[in-house]
Amino acid sequence: MIVIIGSINMDLVLRVPRMPLPGETITGGQFRTIPGGKGANQAVACARLSADSVKVAMVACLGDDAFGTELRAALRTDGIDDSHVTTIPNTASGIASILVDDNGQNSIVLASGANAELSPAHIDAARALIEQARIVVLQLESPLPTVIHAIKLAHVLGKTVVLNPAPAQALPTELLGQIDYLVPNEIEAAMLAGVPANGIDIDKDSDDQIADIIAKLRANGSSNVLVTLGEKGVYAALAAGSTHFDAQAVKAVDTTAAGDTFIGGFVAALAEGCSEADAIALGQRAAAISVARVGAQTSIPTRQEVTN
Ligand code: ADP
Repeated sequence: MIVIIGSINMDLVLRVPRMPLPGETITGGQFRTIPGGKGANQAVACARLSADSVKVAMVACLGDDAFGTELRAALRTDGIDDSHVTTIPNTASGIASILVDDNGQNSIVLASGANAELSPAHIDAARALIEQARIVVLQLESPLPTVIHAIKLAHVLGKTVVLNPAPAQALPTELLGQIDYLVPNEIEAAMLAGVPANGIDIDKDSDDQIADIIAKLRANGSSNVLVTLGEKGVYAALAAGSTHFDAQAVKAVDTTAAGDTFIGGFVAALAEGCSEADAIALGQRAAAISVARVGAQTSIPTRQEVTN
């Protein structure tokens, strides 16, 4: 089993000809509601990309609103165990209000809603579920004390812990030693390594620069680090050594959820006992398909689509 602990949001996506100015009203184009949130996206990616024998469960919170009902139904459609997805009374579900202009530029406001209610008590209540897991996956759209509590529990129970440290924020150094696979993008990796935010100018072609950032993370206790580099692929620093894995060449249409899809494919393959290199390859093939399609969960492919 794979257990994903994290956020669930409804993405409210509105196409606009251009971004409105402060105080201005403009007429938009197509409006869509698309299930999203990093936690739910990664759960869906794990479910679609796993072998049928691998079960996927989520630990999360939803509001008691219409979005909550819809988001729970979306998890069930992908066969995800939602027995530890708690509905919080008198609370709105998490949302992301997303404007996309004709140049493909995004402008996003997140309201965490029920995601802010995910507490250490919810993690303890899910202990029996976590005990059944082979891999536990987390991100940083949930309250940090809860993420820390969950990582400690999963580590003590001997689970493989995967953390996608997004959105980027500082983490307690001692936590890094309890994470088996840290999977940041290059910006998140630099921030975690303590490279000043205004000094981040990462050259995705420079393995030396990425290796330097990873060395800093490892000095703080991280073991395996996979830095995703968009169209440049993945730089993996593993116990067996460091390697740059090229991405698949595709025409990108919408890179939303590329990182989430990569993690889903990587974790799904690891859960089946595949090698790290094969798991990275599955993650990258799945992510390449997702960037050639529009949307977050709508763009995540199935295992069959990836292997065909
Ligand atoms: P995030 O969405 O978290 O910023 P990245 O943009 O680094 O993550 O993308 C994650 C993975 O998705 C990459 O390592 C790569 O495998 C794949 N990917 C992203 N963008 C592209 C692209 N334009 N072409 C091919 N693969 C891509």
